[in-house]
Amino acid sequence: MKDRYLDFVNSPFGMSIARSLGLPRPEVLRRQRADQAEFGGMAAIGAGPAPALFDDLMGVLCAIGMTSIAHESASGWLTVAARHGAMSGRFEPRTRDALATDRVQALIFDATGIEEGHQLHALYAFFHDALRSLGKNGRIVVLGRPPASRAGVPAATAQHALEGMVRSLGKEARNGITSNLLRVAEGADFESALRFFLSPRSAYVSGQVVTIDAPSVAPESWAKPLAGKRALVTGAARGIGASIATVLAGHGAIVTGLDVAASRDALDQTMLSIEDASPSGGAHAALVADIAAPEAPAEIAAALGQAGGIDIVVHNAGITRDKTIARMTGEMWDSVIDINLLAQERIDEILLGQDVLRAGGRIVAVSSISGIAGNRGQTNYATSKAGVIGRVHAMAPLLRGRGITINAVAPGFIETHMTARMPFGVREAGRRLNSMGQGGLPVDVAETVAWLASPGSAGITGNVVRVCGQSLVGA
Ligand code: NAD
Repeated sequence: MKDRYLDFVNSPFGMSIARSLGLPRPEVLRRQRADQAEFGGMAAIGAGPAPALFDDLMGVLCAIGMTSIAHESASGWLTVAARHGAMSGRFEPRTRDALATDRVQALIFDATGIEEGHQLHALYAFFHDALRSLGKNGRIVVLGRPPASRAGVPAATAQHALEGMVRSLGKEARNGITSNLLRVAEGADFESALRFFLSPRSAYVSGQVVTIDAPSVAPESWAKPLAGKRALVTGAARGIGASIATVLAGHGAIVTGLDVAASRDALDQTMLSIEDASPSGGAHAALVADIAAPEAPAEIAAALGQAGGIDIVVHNAGITRDKTIARMTGEMWDSVIDINLLAQERIDEILLGQDVLRAGGRIVAVSSISGIAGNRGQTNYATSKAGVIGRVHAMAPLLRGRGITINAVAPGFIETHMTARMPFGVREAGRRLNSMGQGGLPVDVAETVAWLASPGSAGITGNVVRVCGQSLVGA
């Protein structure tokens, strides 16, 4: 559904009206486009004491073609740049009359060495000087350590404190700027996550904390990281599921899209357009099944097993049957719990039990911010979506031995059929009450799923990533 307010206040006429009336003007978010470079421009680097990730960070910036300048807090950066044969200058705080072209595209702060509360001042020093230099749709990434991995309470405390900083920066920054924290354990690879959070692909992901706690392998091609992988996407006929199937195929995967018989035409249409955009020689497939049917898991396993197994499972199919608890029928409760939660359990059980999901596989489950914050009239839905998150936490350690990761994405307000059906007031509140001042698009969820499904994300498991523009709901 079109966001007419966003279009209006970004039109030449609407812009002047908004300015004179003092109306909020949400930024048009920059999303990934085939005709535009994904990365570029300059990153300003800041750091606390003993930053541990400078070498790896420089390696990634060189690989994606970003240049850098060092804030005075990052005194060792110039030496690292020289070692990598990279040019790097010194960051000068932006003056009021500086040109818009002086702006940087990213602020990256290495906080891994912060072990005591007073050292957090380095964050103040860097962001106080640098935030005004960050351009529209800019990116803030703070690199820290998992608090539980720190020896001693002060170090764990200081690492945890980073969360508040990153979330507040996301709320202060505006202009389509995102702010996220990567907790990188010793020996873990953060390139896949850093690329995602510096990219336009993460346009609607802000205020998130992601833990990366294991090594990873780089994909053969960062442009097609899913080449050679087979993926199942449930609920692929329309909305978020159709976008996930499209984006996974665009990243090189061969996709089986699943949906119910009533959506067969829409599913066929989706899979045909995917074949046109990302030709697989007919290997992309449509699978008609009701995931709630008792026979569905065995049928799905048989179909995928015949094709030689699968690498990525995306549990996206979901329904709402909203009513306050006193008015809700037992059938409304049961159908939502069954489709949104129990069907995932049954499907995974058979795919894992029969090794149809291969070693090194990826499971990504679509939850919702309702499952984090709760929602009036959605006791059934929020229970099912919180259950999805609980399952991800409980399964992640059990799957580590097989190199399989399991993560959840929790969308906020995304422009789809589901949200178009909302009453006007609820819809407008959902759209505006987040740091981006607008709803997300299905592609924002899809790009997040594709990142978690990538071979480079082997070190990311048991995480819940909200795709909600930093919604105030559940924040
Ligand atoms: P949608 O209703 O547009 O699409 C859901 C798809 O799932 C449909 O094609 C439907 O036919 C399919 N489906 C439903 N029941 C099925 C079953 N039993 N078996 C097979 N397929 C089935 O919904 P959407 O907005 O695209 O949502 C996709 C997922 O994202 C859902 O899990 C939803 O809960 C979640 N989500 C959406 C939003 C949002 O703002 N749209 C927010 C948070 C979470």
